[in-house]
Amino acid sequence: MMSQGLVIMSYVIASILFILSLSGLSHQETARRGNYFGMAGMAIAILATAFSGSVTSYTILVIALLIGAFIGTKAAIKVEMTQMPELVALMHSLVGMAAVLVGYANFIDSSNGLQGIEKTIHEVEIYIGIFIGAVTFSGSVIAFGKLCGKLSGKPILLPARHWLNLGLLIATVWLGEVFLTGTETGGGTFALILMTLIALAFGVHMVMAIGGADMPVVVSMLNSYSGWAAAATGFMLGNDLLIVTGALVGSSGAILSYIMCRAMNRHFLSVIAGGFGSVSTKATAVEGDVSPINIDETSQLLQDAKNIMIIPGYGMAVAQAQHTVNEITKLLRSQGKTVRFGIHPVAGRMPGHMNVLLAEAKVPYDIVFEMDEINEDFPSIDVSVVIGANDIVNPSALDDPNSPIAGMPVLECWKSATTIILKRSMAAGYAGVGNPLFVHENTRMLFGDANESMQAILKALKA
Ligand code: NDP
Repeated sequence: MMSQGLVIMSYVIASILFILSLSGLSHQETARRGNYFGMAGMAIAILATAFSGSVTSYTILVIALLIGAFIGTKAAIKVEMTQMPELVALMHSLVGMAAVLVGYANFIDSSNGLQGIEKTIHEVEIYIGIFIGAVTFSGSVIAFGKLCGKLSGKPILLPARHWLNLGLLIATVWLGEVFLTGTETGGGTFALILMTLIALAFGVHMVMAIGGADMPVVVSMLNSYSGWAAAATGFMLGNDLLIVTGALVGSSGAILSYIMCRAMNRHFLSVIAGGFGSVSTKATAVEGDVSPINIDETSQLLQDAKNIMIIPGYGMAVAQAQHTVNEITKLLRSQGKTVRFGIHPVAGRMPGHMNVLLAEAKVPYDIVFEMDEINEDFPSIDVSVVIGANDIVNPSALDDPNSPIAGMPVLECWKSATTIILKRSMAAGYAGVGNPLFVHENTRMLFGDANESMQAILKALKA
């Protein structure tokens, strides 16, 4: 058993490691180190908590740890890179569920011996913890459904939804009062259960109302909520480390949401309120002729180009084309060409999705650029190669005020001499909007699976 002093010291060390982990994760070069810091911090946190003396049954703890480790390892091995966003959403829902369960366990357990104001504070913690946990849980489950395509990405907007949200919020506050008065006489259960149901409905309603293109904000927002749910659990359990860790995740998620909103030129509140700012979701239809291109023509264009920009999107993740893309990049660079990558902040299905894939394929960091850094360079680009991207290169975001993605900055690849788009069909992207880039005079469409096309191009370039 560890002494109280040692436990506190371990918690401080774990907190520092978590902070180092977050700062490491903010840059690609240091992300691996950041992960190691996180793992070390979590190992220390688990050990210190397990030996802190607050554990009453090691049998239950070991069984729970084994079950958790088994499910976690199995999921990590089995899950494809393309399913990562859904997995993250599912993980957030578990944090929410944990907060709800801990809240109820705390409520039922009357052995804490708290009296007077301390008892009231503890009950407020329970009430708020369960509220945040339930919203996080149901919101994340819906986000999971939307990300894996089980639920439609279209916003479901109930009539008078803002009033409905307001009504639910007022009911939650009122039930809080009923709960606190009830607990004085040993009651309050009914109010707590009713509030939990309202919070669950609130989470579902909130995420349902958010349209496909705004989902990145929801993902980062739920990340933040899961942090606050963990912090609330920390308050309920009187565990300082959980409070610190939860606050770190909560605030970093909030910063990420802000960054995502800025990247998409959206106001946070209008995204959360669900389609607040969108006047119409009827985008103008795309008309015009598509000009396809074949593998030989594509490789010839690349051979003739000096300045090449690669724009990866969700389709690159689906096709797992990143390794072939890296091979082609190496080959073209060895021939003296300038090859760069342009990354849109919401490309793919989770924050940093493309950066993760390119890092996995070992694409050098110094040729990978954020949208803001390279968007002005397109007029000097000979060939832009768009690999399975759609919404992030949609010009209607800039010139069609009726488009659901209106106002979102996009990679302006149509300004380059030629744009080659690799995708399987004329299908729309996640936001469900037609893309006039496909019929632009400088655009050529290379139809087919991105990895198969890339492999064929590599072969042709080597021939
Ligand atoms: P999109 O979803 O707009 O487009 C992806 C394109 O890839 C599709 O049009 C599809 O066309 C193509 N594709 C799919 N599979 C393959 C394949 N095997 N080979 C070749 N092409 C393929 O992705 P973007 O990256 O351009 O934009 C991201 C979108 O996702 C944005 O709307 C963003 O808001 C949203 N989003 C982003 C999140 C984030 O955090 N980054 C989270 C949630 C949503 P086809 O079927 O014809 O092949």
